[in-house]
Amino acid sequence: MTLLRAGSATDTGLVRAVNQDLALQTTSLFAVADGMGGHVAGEVAARTAIETLATVFRTQPNPDGLVGAVEAANREVWQQGFDNADLRGMGTTVTAVALVEEDGHDILALVNVGDSRTYRFHDGHLDLLTLDHSLAEEMVRNGEITAEEAAVHPHRHILTRALGVAEDIKVDLWRVQPIKGDRFLLCSDGLTNELDDTVITDMLATIRHPQDAANQLVEAARNHGGNDNITVVVIDVVMGDEVDEEQSAGLVVPSEEVLEAEAAAEARAHRQAEAHAEAEAQAAAGPTGPGQEPLLATGESLGQPDALVAPVGAPVLSRRAERRIKRRNRRIARGRRLVTLRTFLFLILAAAIIGAGYFAVRWYDTNSYYVGVDQGHVVIYQGRIGGFLWFHPKAVDHTGVTVFQVPATYIPALQAGVEETSVANAQAYVRNLEQQQREIQATAANPAVTSPLVPGTPPSTTTTMAGVG
Ligand code: MG
Repeated sequence: MTLLRAGSATDTGLVRAVNQDLALQTTSLFAVADGMGGHVAGEVAARTAIETLATVFRTQPNPDGLVGAVEAANREVWQQGFDNADLRGMGTTVTAVALVEEDGHDILALVNVGDSRTYRFHDGHLDLLTLDHSLAEEMVRNGEITAEEAAVHPHRHILTRALGVAEDIKVDLWRVQPIKGDRFLLCSDGLTNELDDTVITDMLATIRHPQDAANQLVEAARNHGGNDNITVVVIDVVMGDEVDEEQSAGLVVPSEEVLEAEAAAEARAHRQAEAHAEAEAQAAAGPTGPGQEPLLATGESLGQPDALVAPVGAPVLSRRAERRIKRRNRRIARGRRLVTLRTFLFLILAAAIIGAGYFAVRWYDTNSYYVGVDQGHVVIYQGRIGGFLWFHPKAVDHTGVTVFQVPATYIPALQAGVEETSVANAQAYVRNLEQQQREIQATAANPAVTSPLVPGTPPSTTTTMAGVG
């Protein structure tokens, strides 16, 4: 026969505006939930979890039933967050102790998800029974950082497991022997972040009644800073199994899953320690050569936490996430280099096209000639008649021939410009016009001589010119 007596207390603390923690205290089921989420979401998450836990546990009051109740609570919180945009992203921790009967014996079933904790105070000693599902604590278990480093680690508030984050949840379970005189403490992190184990131990050792102990623990955490909501449940085993001093401190039996997780963490910590030792040995042997890889690549051989759950506003960075970000940054950097190369090639190509176009236009312009008139003088120009694009015709031969030295019938054509394919052809054309004018003048002076050319039919082609010239 086991008899429990309990007390509980909760407080918003001195910094937070609302209390998102919640305690549950019945005759056989005790729990603490620490909700998170913006606005009212954290409170809703904690309340939904506690209510579902209590309701579902009643239908199957045994260790598996307690695990099932936490799973049901998870689904309920998850579903509400899924259905309601205002509650999206809410979550909660939960740690619970239930007095149940198994194989004809009373036992205490203990479950945990998140970083709220359950301790056992036995024979003057305080033992933490639960494992925190926080990034910092997982790093401690994996041997990556020390407990002291974890206490101030920037990721210490990032949870790796919480109710409401996914449809399924892994629940840690222990079976604990109820020893008469033992005291259990369930609390949110608002207590343990403010008070160290010695203070808690002293208070549990000296304050007799569990309700007084709960009240004073909360008060002490508040006085120490009260940076978070503080919630405490203290359970005394008033009547239970009796063990004498020679016997064990009572049995605490983790579930298979917890044992496996602990063994895996231990193995990782062992590998980590070996890697450190090897790295130190190598460092002592001399500087690392340029071709050698460092022994501890980031994230190598380290255990990976479950999906991360961060309090609102806190950074979320698992090692996996860090590696993912690094990989993405490398891809972006590669992409940038590619963009730079592409841009460079594009510019070269564009410059080549523009250059080729310029030289084609320039070639077209400088290989064109025409014969025109400037201030009564016949002039040979290089370029297109009237100019081409931004190129203006340039006088290349002033010829010394005036408009009076060419047949009058050609003057309008000359004023408009007569195209030729080269300076030589243009010069031949001008000489031909001079020749015609001389013959016209000679005919005028001596009408017996007939002009070989019909006036008004210009020597329009180079071939003709050459023949005439
Ligand atoms: Mg908290």
